[in-house]
Amino acid sequence: MPEGHSVHRIARQFDRNIVGRRVGASSPQGRFAEGAAVLDGREAIEARAVGKQMFLAFEDDVWLRVHLGMYGAWDFAGEIAADPTIASANGRMGQTNQRGTQLDVVFDSAGENSLSSIGAPRRSRVRMSEQTTGLGDDATDTAEWPPPVVGQVRLRLLTDVTCADLRGPTACRLQTPDEVQETIAKLGPDPLVDDSTTGEERFTSVVRRKPTPIGLLLMDQSVVSGIGNVYRAEMLFRARLNPHTPGREVSDETVRGLWRDWVRLLAIGVETGQMMTMDDLDPEAWRRAMAHRDDRHWVYHRAGLPCRVCGTAIVLEEMASRKLYWCPNCQR
Ligand SMILES: [Zn+2]
Repeated sequence: MPEGHSVHRIARQFDRNIVGRRVGASSPQGRFAEGAAVLDGREAIEARAVGKQMFLAFEDDVWLRVHLGMYGAWDFAGEIAADPTIASANGRMGQTNQRGTQLDVVFDSAGENSLSSIGAPRRSRVRMSEQTTGLGDDATDTAEWPPPVVGQVRLRLLTDVTCADLRGPTACRLQTPDEVQETIAKLGPDPLVDDSTTGEERFTSVVRRKPTPIGLLLMDQSVVSGIGNVYRAEMLFRARLNPHTPGREVSDETVRGLWRDWVRLLAIGVETGQMMTMDDLDPEAWRRAMAHRDDRHWVYHRAGLPCRVCGTAIVLEEMASRKLYWCPNCQR
């Protein structure tokens, strides 16, 4: 499931490739035909991400709200300009590791940080994972324009040179500016939207008065925006915190530490396109971790494997019907 970093990357992709241009909009699948008809021919004005929600503004105060949910993804085709914050000075795609070393982009074997497809993994992405040199490769072998529709495309936004296809979202609807404000008002702070100090205060004051387990509070989008299953498990491990601890029993210092960790991890996630949650890796370990999900997490997806710190078997349990991974020894 796409977590907050993916949605921010999608918004930046829209900002670079769609905003400022007039779009042709259609719903090849038909389920968003009326909405697409309203968007068709309008200029895109602004792209904004808050947590897991993306808002795209069009002329005349028409807004599109998209929530990818568990299975949604955007696929981009044609000319795709990368966000400058993730491109290095020499124009090639680059990434910075936690030590500040500039490294060439390493693409994940499962397509998690693909430039042309952001969201839930799907089979059509296998080809992307074979790309090794970064930008443009996908565009060069697309002979047909516009690209043929593949699968259930809810919404296609098309400029002269770029195509964005949305498949499988939980929400795709038009909103008025007031409705957008209402939606955003219900969301907890997002480190890339809200002032960090204000965000930290909001998050801390809510968590510290709730009897709810911290493992649930981190996933509650009204408490904090953008954290999903992977970041939740990893952040709790990094804080050595038992997921069942009621929010109000977590110390003020630890809650603030969680917020600051989220600020840090989200920034890394947006830059690399991956949920990199391990620090201080040497270049070789970093490269391996970027290429394979199994090498970049402390506890996520490691049920039964020995904890990287203490060797205890990582536990998998269901918490509010989502999988939770944690080390019962390190996170007492
Ligand atoms: Zn452990």
